[in-house]
Amino acid sequence: MQSTVWLTDLSSRPGDSLLDKTGRLLRAAGLGDKIGRGDLTAVKLHFGEKGNTAYVRPVYLRKVVEEIAAAGGKPFLTDTNTLYVGGRSNAADHLRTAITNGFAFAVVDAPVVIADGVRGESAVRVPVEGRIFREVSIGAEIANADALVAVTHFKGHELSGFGGVIKNLGMGCASRAGKLAQHSTVSPFVDPASCTGCGTCVAHCPSGAISVVSATALIDPKECIGCADCIVVCPEHTVKIDWNEAAPMVQKKMVEHALGVLAGKRDSALFLTFVTQLSPFCDCYGSSDRPIAPDVGILASDDPVALDQACADLAISAAGRDPFRATHPSIDWTVQLSYGEELGLGSRKYVLETL
Ligand code: SF4
Ligand code: SF4
Repeated sequence: MQSTVWLTDLSSRPGDSLLDKTGRLLRAAGLGDKIGRGDLTAVKLHFGEKGNTAYVRPVYLRKVVEEIAAAGGKPFLTDTNTLYVGGRSNAADHLRTAITNGFAFAVVDAPVVIADGVRGESAVRVPVEGRIFREVSIGAEIANADALVAVTHFKGHELSGFGGVIKNLGMGCASRAGKLAQHSTVSPFVDPASCTGCGTCVAHCPSGAISVVSATALIDPKECIGCADCIVVCPEHTVKIDWNEAAPMVQKKMVEHALGVLAGKRDSALFLTFVTQLSPFCDCYGSSDRPIAPDVGILASDDPVALDQACADLAISAAGRDPFRATHPSIDWTVQLSYGEELGLGSRKYVLETL
């Protein structure tokens, strides 16, 4: 079955700005049917790491907020804390980074809520019928929301070729434990060279997996439940992740987490993707390199697989070659699409409706 993907290009004129066109796009894609009166609506986006400049501009989020409110919903902007230690690895730093990057209430007209709590401990385990997972760990405030609008910046990515809506859902809505489960098959480990033996990780570990022996922390993999708390509480940043999962498997795990995010929300979720400023790497980087393809436009759909497929097709057409393969030659980005189709996340076949 074919899904509908809506597209608006980037042409505009006085009286019909790109913000106006974004509003029309959301309405055409059926936002009004997705949002019920009073629905707490999670607007999932990436606020950008400090120094990044390619993320979706806050004024577009203000428009999304306005449209959700007009449809009767109560929107809040949200993202989850990162697995790595950086400017978004706890809620305090994350909120500060979001505001620094322009997502202040005065601009976006909605509160920002970090979905998985102060340290990433606030998660809900959602059952899925995956081939790898039977349940996945999702940021609680996304799982608890009535409706979901995912706003995605389409760009290159070193593990998935491109980062689109499937990644924004699967990786971006996962709790820290969910992210660790996608990136690694083994427990975190301590670098003894910089461990001071302070015991902070021991106090935070929920499963008693860490002990300090001769002033150095040791993690017992048999006891570790993979919550990833020790990675961010260590003041020396000496708890490391073995990023050992292979790229195709990371993409499949992303798909299974995306299924968990959309559990119970298939009729109350819509996806808006900006195929603009296609940077070669994720917005988790503290910089944005020159684009790998010309700007394409803004797209919307309620099918995440069809939307990512359409974005990739249009980017390839605009670039005259596959910019994702050219940038990340070893990565087969089709895995997330074919696996998503196989597991019922959506369809790779689509009809493009242009506004
Ligand atoms: S918190 Fe970090 S420095 Fe302190 S004992 Fe644990 S690993 Fe070592
Ligand atoms: S990942 Fe969680 S359970 Fe495992 S050692 Fe670290 S704090 Fe403990």
